[in-house]
Amino acid sequence: MRCTVVGAGVSGLSCAIRLLETGYQVEVVSDKFSPDTVSDVAAAIWYPFLTAPADRADGWGLETYAELQRLANEVPEAGVKMRDGREYLRQVVELPSWGEEIAAFRTLESNEIPEGYVFGWEFRAPVIEMPLYMPWLKSKAERMGCTFRQGTIRDLSEVPGDLVVNCVGLGARELCDDKEVVPARGQVIFVEQDPGIGHFDQQPETLTYTIPRSDVTVLGGTAQLGDWDLEHRAEDDELILGKVEALWPDLDRSKIIGGTVGLRPSRSEVRLEVELIDGRVVVHNYGHGGAGVTLSWGCADEVASLVSQSA
Ligand SMILES: Cc1cc2nc3c(=O)[nH]c(=O)nc-3n(C[C@H](O)[C@H](O)[C@H](O)COP(=O)(O)OP(=O)(O)OC[C@H]3O[C@@H](n4cnc5c(N)ncnc54)[C@H](O)[C@@H]3O)c2cc1C
Repeated sequence: MRCTVVGAGVSGLSCAIRLLETGYQVEVVSDKFSPDTVSDVAAAIWYPFLTAPADRADGWGLETYAELQRLANEVPEAGVKMRDGREYLRQVVELPSWGEEIAAFRTLESNEIPEGYVFGWEFRAPVIEMPLYMPWLKSKAERMGCTFRQGTIRDLSEVPGDLVVNCVGLGARELCDDKEVVPARGQVIFVEQDPGIGHFDQQPETLTYTIPRSDVTVLGGTAQLGDWDLEHRAEDDELILGKVEALWPDLDRSKIIGGTVGLRPSRSEVRLEVELIDGRVVVHNYGHGGAGVTLSWGCADEVASLVSQSA
């Protein structure tokens, strides 16, 4: 069976690999490829940030955690590393349902919590270095026989193949006329300084993170809904740096070397379902917001299983 995957971000490439592993012929068609996708801009740490629907997203997240942990241990060239991080909260909340399922999870002692916060937890999670991971995903798919074609799809019924997997992210706003998909603009800063562990406040209104990679630490963030601006804004840098300094007072601003902007494909919940278009199966897999990397392998597994059921 010939499957066409539309979109070459982390969702499309992960699905392509799972479909190739199942034995299907796969072509990826996309208007942009790495390093020009939103996925290339992701910071990126495994963390279920604003994920929905809750009943499915927890499973997708945990399956992805296991696969990324395996890559960290067995495939160093994939650019995934297990790192410790601390999440700080301004109120006491229930512990996350996935806490018991991941490594080194514990609640913080009061002397470990910065001023302005009252609660928090430490956790060990994969940090995915996207400048390494995206080319690795693409070359893995290529080695397995995947073909790639540059093109903009305007109508899913015109895509060749026996079955289509739709991973266009924000592109679904036009391609599927799905106005529920909106950009959540994210600006980040790169600094050549290592905080040791990651510091996080992942509430949407106060979103702050420091994610150490092997070469730089990624500082964020913003999540500006409905904002399409891809220009790097000085006022957002100031906002980010102020928030980061509250969690990491040792930040040295002289070590900043740049930054970038990306538009997360935000949606009230991920759309992962089958639709019949002109009698052919289309599996939609888009709208992952701020957690597309976190959910990538779990969603790809479900896509592959829906494809097998439809075959
Ligand atoms: C600053 C920032 C930080 C982030 N940090 C994290 C993080 O720490 N952890 C995490 O899990 N996630 C993070 N994210 C979110 C993550 O980047 C996204 O959820 C993820 O990249 C979505 O992947 P995707 O493959 O679905 O979409 P995309 O990467 O947007 O890929 C969509 C693909 O479809 C193609 N396409 C679109 N329309 C068409 C069309 N009509 N025809 C053909 N091709 C088309 C595009 O060219 C692209 O190749 C972050 C995002 C940003 C911006």
